[in-house]
Amino acid sequence: MIYDLVIIGAGPAGLTAGVYARSRKLKTLILEAGTAGGQLVTLYPDKGIENYPGCVLTQAERLARRMTTHALSMGCELHENERVLDIKDKEGHLTVVSEKAQYDAKGVLIAIGIGLFKPKKLGVPGEKEFEDRGVCYKIPDKDRLVDKRVVFVGGGNSALEMALIAAQVAETYVVHRRDKFRADESVVEKVQNSRIKTILNAELERIDGKESVESIVVKVGPEQERRTLRVDAVIINIGFTPELEDLERWQVELEDNLIKVDTSMRTSRKGVFACGDVVTYPGKYKQIVTACGEAATAANAAYKYMMKPYWA
Ligand SMILES: Cc1cc2nc3c(=O)[nH]c(=O)nc-3n(C[C@H](O)[C@H](O)[C@H](O)COP(=O)(O)OP(=O)(O)OC[C@H]3O[C@@H](n4cnc5c(N)ncnc54)[C@H](O)[C@@H]3O)c2cc1C
Repeated sequence: MIYDLVIIGAGPAGLTAGVYARSRKLKTLILEAGTAGGQLVTLYPDKGIENYPGCVLTQAERLARRMTTHALSMGCELHENERVLDIKDKEGHLTVVSEKAQYDAKGVLIAIGIGLFKPKKLGVPGEKEFEDRGVCYKIPDKDRLVDKRVVFVGGGNSALEMALIAAQVAETYVVHRRDKFRADESVVEKVQNSRIKTILNAELERIDGKESVESIVVKVGPEQERRTLRVDAVIINIGFTPELEDLERWQVELEDNLIKVDTSMRTSRKGVFACGDVVTYPGKYKQIVTACGEAATAANAAYKYMMKPYWA
């Protein structure tokens, strides 16, 4: 059996591509290393999404579940907990090799988002020692933060949005090394109007504790004045480092560790398309709505590729 399209990753990009591929009646398989929904379910399920058209405010997890239901209702086959390892050429088509099986496909669409990317580490004393004992790189279950003292390190949307979720139940600090946050103005405004205490121009120097995290030391301002904060959790969100191994094996041209695509979302490899957070092109903006838009283009380009010569 040969699939028309195998989609790697079931985040907003992969699920939307599935919807579009099925509207062209392509036999479509989506392979997902974890749970369908991507970052919305793994990184920020409780967060409110306010910029997805048609939804004034919706919870991230709910939006992701709706996208999954949509893809399934269109007739996509979805395998969760099945990570893709390789894409091989085979007699005029492609074979997608996962950790469980191999699938022949006429086209492949890579939509792995930041899934193969590891969170960047600060490299400060105590960070490694207390990993999973108070130090983590994504927001823990909100229930586990109730009445705790948590500090977020970072100044982008991701760190501040996670801090806003934590602030609903916990005493929350944000430490950022610059004098201004990088996040969107609307997010910064929410932080300013919240109970979050921000410490700018500050660097985390070390994390201390016994069984788990108990305190941190930060160096603040040009004088590098040292302050000790009593905290139960340190959530570090300073970006992601790509794990290039898999992508390199997939033989697609990379730029800044992301997949280079043209305006039709074609990669450098014949029959292989890509969309969402894993791609780069001039003006790329990493958002749900752009991932979905690129997915529509990519699925359509894959269809045209399979139907060659295409007449439209
Ligand atoms: C804290 C935070 C808040 C955000 N808030 C917003 C917001 O309010 N609005 C907005 O528009 N955007 C927001 N974003 C950005 C948005 O989440 C991303 O742009 C979007 O998720 C990208 O979708 P994607 O499908 O490309 O990737 P992802 O969501 O990362 O999905 C990729 C999927 O691929 C899977 N995968 C990875 N490798 C493999 C493999 N080898 N085999 C199989 N599967 C694999 C992963 O498990 C994952 O499920 C936020 C991001 C963060 C971190």
